[in-house]
Formats: sequence, structure tokens, C-alpha cells
Amino acid sequence: MADIIQLLPDHVANQIAAGEVVQRPASVVKELLENAIDAGSQNIKLIIKDAGKTLIQVIDDGKGMSVTDARLSFERHATSKIRTADDLFQLNTKGFRGEALASIAAIAHVELKTKQEQDEVGTTLVIEGSDVKSQDVVVTPKGTSIAVKNLFFNIPARRNFLKSNAVETRHIIDEFHRVALAHPNIGFVMFHNGSESFNLPISNYRQRIVNIFGNKTNERLVPVDEDTEVLKISGFVGKPEFAKKTRGEQFFFVNNRFIKSAYLNHAIGSAFEGLLKDGAHASYFLNLTVNPQTIDINIHPTKTEIKFDDEHTLYAILRSAVKHSLGQFNIAPVLDFERDANLDTPYSYQQKGTPSVTVDSNFNPFADEKISKGNTTNTVSYKKEPTANWESLYVGLESKGNTSQQDFGEVHFESEQENTSVFSDINAIEQKQSTYQFHNKYIVSTIKSGLLLIDQNRAHQRVLYEDFLKHITVKEGMSQQLLFPLELHFSPQEIEIIKELKNDLEHTGFVFQTLEKEKIEITGVPVMVPESEVSIILEQLISDVENEVPDSHFSATDLLAKSMAKSLAIKTGQSLTTVEQEHLVNSLFACKEPNVSPVNRATFITMTVDELDKKFV
Ligand code: ADP
Ligand code: MG
Repeated sequence: MADIIQLLPDHVANQIAAGEVVQRPASVVKELLENAIDAGSQNIKLIIKDAGKTLIQVIDDGKGMSVTDARLSFERHATSKIRTADDLFQLNTKGFRGEALASIAAIAHVELKTKQEQDEVGTTLVIEGSDVKSQDVVVTPKGTSIAVKNLFFNIPARRNFLKSNAVETRHIIDEFHRVALAHPNIGFVMFHNGSESFNLPISNYRQRIVNIFGNKTNERLVPVDEDTEVLKISGFVGKPEFAKKTRGEQFFFVNNRFIKSAYLNHAIGSAFEGLLKDGAHASYFLNLTVNPQTIDINIHPTKTEIKFDDEHTLYAILRSAVKHSLGQFNIAPVLDFERDANLDTPYSYQQKGTPSVTVDSNFNPFADEKISKGNTTNTVSYKKEPTANWESLYVGLESKGNTSQQDFGEVHFESEQENTSVFSDINAIEQKQSTYQFHNKYIVSTIKSGLLLIDQNRAHQRVLYEDFLKHITVKEGMSQQLLFPLELHFSPQEIEIIKELKNDLEHTGFVFQTLEKEKIEITGVPVMVPESEVSIILEQLISDVENEVPDSHFSATDLLAKSMAKSLAIKTGQSLTTVEQEHLVNSLFACKEPNVSPVNRATFITMTVDELDKKFV
């Protein structure tokens, strides 16, 4: 049989390589910015049109290229940055593979202009899908400009796979931030569709962070500095009280290269242990400098992961450096963020043995039916909310400095007995109601065929979600005017997200007076939203958008409704009056899809008499 193996033509090989290097417009942005940095530029300008789908251009004032280099730079494996394999372990440039320009030129229309300082004139090259269309002499300033147009023009499948402009822009901005944060000594400007989105002058690191994330960031930064033989750390962590629900502001740079490392992230997490609210993530902007010989950045094609020789040591140093900074800047542990002071009382009463009995009208008899009623001899005072028990226990134990399992169990037992005694007192009062709240979490009601158990939080989310969706689509949300405008501060990027959702937010009842680079002023809020909750709701919304990245207008609306429903819904642990319980049950069953929460979790379960009977066999 004849031989069948052939070498692929270059343009095909390049197109295949492009699949790895260029996933989306943001990948091109990253490669071009990194090349500009490697060229020793002082100022770099990024110009984007239509989220990079139409144009991505990077203009630098770096060292430029000679005529021959300009032509060679688009060849695969053509690089000026390494010469031998050993150089791979001495890298101090961003690039080294020599693949980026060849890959980009294989799948786009590229226009290069470049000139070295000492030359009178420069070179311009036009390449379309790896074909050099023209090469000329050009008058151009020192440095390089590369314009990439019509990305994926010859791979329609890839082009169709691109996400909405909002999503692609966010990816581009993320890359821009990473590069700009790693190089405060270089000035960056970014234009999108003709308007300036960022202008970051040469500055120190702190100013760079503030210029990107907004003025309010300044007071939130705690410096971290550590210099050891194996690792030098400099940068900042965010004060714990400003920690975000999103992982957005977490940046590690190793030798000026942005990296992701779950392991090192864990080191920071453990340094913050006990300082963060549940679900909150510490912010950090940390530069790690290590000997290039002790890392391998070669393991990932897009180079955001690297391998360290001695990760354990780095972990330990990083953790202790961050801990030390937090301690030094007097950031004392704040364990009791949102604790209700009321919860502290019962246990201390109990310890003193104050002999009074408080009757609780919210108390839920259903919960205790299974407990023997005989014991009414307790003299311990008990307040409201039986479900708060575990929390009050926790408080008590904490003050004793004792967390042994045994104590926990013992106290819990007492509290149940106590409930029983209260139960017998109020049994008569509550007999008429058709719903019961159980553990401040479930509402129990009866239906013809048996029992209905409703999760109060999920049910309320469903009700609010359908409400918000309706308001947004019919554009008729009721607004309440605020006495004084509410001023809130966000980073420019966060403001962008709010801007994207502005119309929808207005339909729910928000009224924005100002929506500027870092500041918003709100003069009206939806009727059901308390003023004090507004900033929390918006922060949650931004975090949800950042994490889920809505893809179309429809899903953005949906996300807004979900996010607001989540923020405003009755929480687990909240006690409800009988009227509130009934209202919630009725509203739930007036919904279009009462049986699931907005994120598709069951809102209720039923237990038929048959099922119950079986349990009693
Ligand atoms: P790599 O960066 O891995 O070397 P690239 O394909 O990104 O590979 O670039 C190829 C070569 O082109 C670089 O090694 C560099 O010599 C040259 N080059 C690319 N961009 C620029 C620029 N903005 N200024 C000067 N030289 C550049
Ligand atoms: Mg490169």
C-alpha cells in the first residue's frame, strides 16, 4: 500500500494551534498585551470594538521590530525570547512559545505596524488567515501596533460559539485587569467602542489597585510584606469586614505573571480563618517572587497554572505572612457578625436559674408533640424561638470557653424539656390555626390527603421571583420614594454590571438619580425592599452576575429576579405569625410553578395519610 502520512501545511497547523491559544477575544487581548510588555513598553493602549469580535488593537511604545523580525514574528515557533531548552527555566518574559502571533494570524485579519527607535521608517504587514497580503514601508512612531479584525472569520463554528458581547467584554476586562495589576510601572488605557473604560497611569501598586477597583478600595487594603530566602511576598489583602460573596478580587502573581492556585488560595483562606462571614471570600492582590528555577510554567497551554518545587513551604510562609499582617493591623477576630443580641439572653438566664416562665405566642406546638408532656417542673426561663436554641447554646459555650460534645448534647436536651413545659401552657391558644411553623424553617399544613410541609425560604423565593419577573416584563414595579437619596459606592466594573441591568432594576421599582464611574444615587426602591437592604441586594446581584455570567437579555432578567428573590425571601430561622404563614402558603399556591424554588429545588413535600399509616404499623 502507498504511504499515506503527510506533513500538514503550515496554515492548517497554525489553525489547529490557534484552537489552543485563542479560545475567545480575551485570549488575543492577553497575548498582545503580554507581547507589548515583553517589548519593554512604558505605555500600552488597548482598543476594542464589539467585545473584540470586530477589532482588538494593542498599541505600544516598546522596542519594535526590524523588517525581518516583523515577517518572522508570524511564523510558528518563532520567538526572540528563548533559544535553548534551558532558557525555559530562566524565564523572565511572558511569552516563550512563539505561537501566539502565528495562531492569531491564522484565524483573523491582522495588520501590523512596527518601528524600532533607531530606524527612520517602519514596516507594515497585512495578513489574512496566514496569507501575507502586503508588506510595505510605513511612517509610524516607535513601537508596535497590532490590529486583529474579524476574529474566527474562517472558522464560523468558533465564531458562533462566542458568548454575548457583555460576557466577552467581561472576559477581556478580566485579562486587562490581570495584566495591569501585574505591571503598575506601565501605563494602560483601554477604549471600548470609542469610549475610554480605563485609564491607568504609571503608579505604585496600591494606586493601581485603587484605579482599577475604585476609591473605596483604598481604605480596605492591608499591606502584606515578607522577604524570605525562598519567597518574597508583597501586596495587599482586603480587610475581612469587606470580604465579598464573590471570588472576584483574588489575584496571585508569581514573578509578575497572573496565576491560579487553589492550594495557595487555601493558604489565604486559612490565614483568615474565623474572620470571615459565612460564604465570604477574602480579597487579595499578592505578588510572589520566587527563583524562576523553582517553578515550571510550562504545564498549561494558557499558562495560568504553574508548578512549584516546594509548594508546602510557600503555603506556610504565605499563610503566616497574611496572618501576621492581619494581626499587626489590628484586625481582631470578629466572630459575631450578625448575631442577634436577644439570642444571648436565654442561656445566661438559664445559668442563673431565674425562675420565670415566658409564654411564647409564636411557639410551635407541632414541633413538640412527640415529646413527653409530663415534665413541667423546670424553673428555667425560656424565651421565644425554640430554633434559636442551638445558637444560644453556642453563645453560652463560647463564653465558658468550652466546646465539648458532651455539653452540647446536655444543654440541648434541657432546652427541649423546657419547650415542653411552655407547650402545655399555650396549647389552648394555638389550637385553631391551620398552619404551624416548625423549627422556624418549615410550615406545616394539612391537605385532604394528608400533610404538607413547606420550606418557608424556598417558598417565599418562588413567590418573590414570579413577582419580580412579572414586574420586569410588564414594567410596572411599585416604587417607594426615599426621603434622602441613598449614595452607594462600587468599583467601575461593578457599576458596569448595574448599568447593564438598569432598565430591569427600574422596572422592579428602583429609581437611579446618578450612575457614575464609582457612585450611584438611588432615590426610589421597590416597595418591598427596606432601604437598609439595598446595598446588600445590589452586592448580591453583582456577585450573582459575576458568577453566572448571564448570556442573553432573557437570562439577565431571570438572574435579576432570582437574585432579588434570594436576597429578600424570608430566611430559615425567622419566626412567622399565623397570618404570615397562611399568606405565604396562599401566595405559593397562586404561583405558576409552586412546587419548585427559582433554582429548581422542591418548595414542599407531602405525606399522605397512607404513608403516615404505614409508619404506625
Ligand atoms: P512569543 O511571545 O512566545 O515569543 P509571539 O508569537 O507572541 O511569541 O511573538 C513572536 C515574536 O514577535 C516575539 O518573540 C517578539 O520577538 C515579537 N513581537 C511580538 N509582539 C511584539 C511587540 N509588541 N513588540 C516587539 N516585538 C514583538
Ligand atoms: Mg507572545
